[in-house]
Amino acid sequence: QKPMRLRIAPSPTGIAHIGTAWLAMFNLALARQSKGKFLIRIEDTDRARFVPEAEKLIYEGLGWLGIDYDEGGAKGGPHAPYRQSERLEIYRKYVEQLVAKGHAYYCFCTKEDLEKMRAEQLAAGELPKYNRKWRDADKTVVRQKLAAGEPYVIRLKVPDGREIKWQDLIRGEVVFQSSLLDDQVLLKADGYPTYHLGVVVDDHLMEITHILRGEEWISSTPKHILLYEAFGWKMPEFAHMPLIRNADKSKMSKRKNDVSILSYRDKGYLPEAVRNFIALLGWSHPEEKEVFSFREFLKVVSLERVQKTGPVFDVEKLNWYNGFYIRTIVKKRGLDALHERLKPFYPQDYAWEQALTILALVYERLVTLTDIEELTSFFYREIEVETDLLLKKSDVASVAEQLTRTIDELGKIEENDWTTAKIEEIVRGVCETQGYKKSQYFMMVRVAVTGKKATPPLFETMEVLGKEKVVKRLEGALTKLENYG
Ligand code: GLU
Repeated sequence: QKPMRLRIAPSPTGIAHIGTAWLAMFNLALARQSKGKFLIRIEDTDRARFVPEAEKLIYEGLGWLGIDYDEGGAKGGPHAPYRQSERLEIYRKYVEQLVAKGHAYYCFCTKEDLEKMRAEQLAAGELPKYNRKWRDADKTVVRQKLAAGEPYVIRLKVPDGREIKWQDLIRGEVVFQSSLLDDQVLLKADGYPTYHLGVVVDDHLMEITHILRGEEWISSTPKHILLYEAFGWKMPEFAHMPLIRNADKSKMSKRKNDVSILSYRDKGYLPEAVRNFIALLGWSHPEEKEVFSFREFLKVVSLERVQKTGPVFDVEKLNWYNGFYIRTIVKKRGLDALHERLKPFYPQDYAWEQALTILALVYERLVTLTDIEELTSFFYREIEVETDLLLKKSDVASVAEQLTRTIDELGKIEENDWTTAKIEEIVRGVCETQGYKKSQYFMMVRVAVTGKKATPPLFETMEVLGKEKVVKRLEGALTKLENYG
C-alpha cells in the first residue's frame, strides 16, 4: 500500500460541524493505515458566508475529539499556506493557464445580464443555463474589455456530449453527462476562486491521492474531473461518504439536530463516546463490535465496510454510549477519574466536602456530565416538596402520622450511629410495626427528604444527607401538610 495523502477541506461558515469530525476520522484512519498524511485545508473563499471565528472552532472541535492531523493549522507543512484566502495568486496563475490553453474564458456578463438570461429561458420553458455568450468571443473585444478594467469572471469551457465517469471507492461507477453542466465559474469577479477551482488546484498541489468527502459533493466531481483533464493532471481517487440524516431521514441539519461539535462538549458528552458513536455512522466494525476504542477504529476501518445509504443520527444511541463510557471511567480508573472529568460541570455551590461520596451514589444515573447538577442538587440545596407527591396513594392525616412517627424514631439515633444500616433498620421497623404499605411509605419518605421520586438508594442517601438535614426535611414536610387545605 502506497502512502495515501488525504484531507478535509472545511469551509469556515459557522459552527464546527459534527460531520466534519466524522469525515476527519475516516480520512485520518486511511492516512495512518498507509503511513501517509492527513491534512486540513481551510476553504474560505466564499466571502459572503465567511465567519471569522469559525476556523478556530473547527480546530478546537477536532482537538477536543482528539482527532489529530499532520499538516495545516498551527502545524503548517510543506504545502503552506493551508488557507485558501492566502493562495489567491496561485489560483489566478493556474486559471490563466487554462485560458491560454483554451479550456477557460473570460465572461463579462453582469449580474443583471444573467438575471435577464434566466428570466428569458424560464419564460421560454427552458432550463436556466449560462448561454455561453463569451465562450467564443472575439479576442480583441476581450482584450479591450480587460484593458478597460471591466469586471469579469473566468468560466470553464465544458465540452459537449461527454460522458464523465469515475470508479467511486464507495459508490462504484458513477456517470454524468457533460450536457447537464453549465460552463462553471472558476474565478469570481472579486478575484477569489470558486470552490471548484480552489479544490482542484489545491488537491493537486497538495498531492492528495484520495478525496474522501460527503455525498453532497458528488455532483461537483464531474466538474473537477474536467478540470483535472484540462490541466493535464493525474486524477485522484474519489470516495463519497453517505449523507448523515435526521431521524425523519432528511439531511442532518441545524434545525433538527444539534450538529455542533463543541455543543456536544458543552452538553457533557465525552469525546470517547462521541467518537465511538460517529464511527458507526455508515460504517460497521468487521467483527460487528459496537464498542471499540478510537485507536482500534483507526486500525480496522476500511471503505469496503462503508454503506451507501445515509445513516441516521440517533441521539438516544449517543446517550447510551455516553452513559456507558462514564461508567467505564469508573470501572477502569475509579471514581476519582470521573470526578476530575466532572470538574467543569459541577455547579459553584456543589457539596465539595462530600463530592466523592455523592458521586458514588449518583454516577450510574449520569447520561451526560451536565446531569450532575440535576442529580445531586438536593444534597446541598434547599428542596421544594410537592404536596401531591407526598400524599400519593394516601391522605393528609395518615401521612402526617407517618411523618411524626418517623421523625421520632430517627431522632433517637445517636449522631455517630447514623449509618445506612441503622437508618434502614429504624425506617423498616416503623413500617412493619405500624403496618404501613411499604411502597407508599418509602416513596413518601423519599419525596420528603429529597423532593424527588427517583434518587439513589434511599438509606444511603439519608446517611449522606446527615441526621440534621433529614430530620429537618421531614419536619418541613409535616409543616407543609399541617398548613395544607
Ligand atoms: N469546502 C468544502 C466543504 O465545505 C469541501 C468539500 C470537499 O471536501 O471537496 O465541505
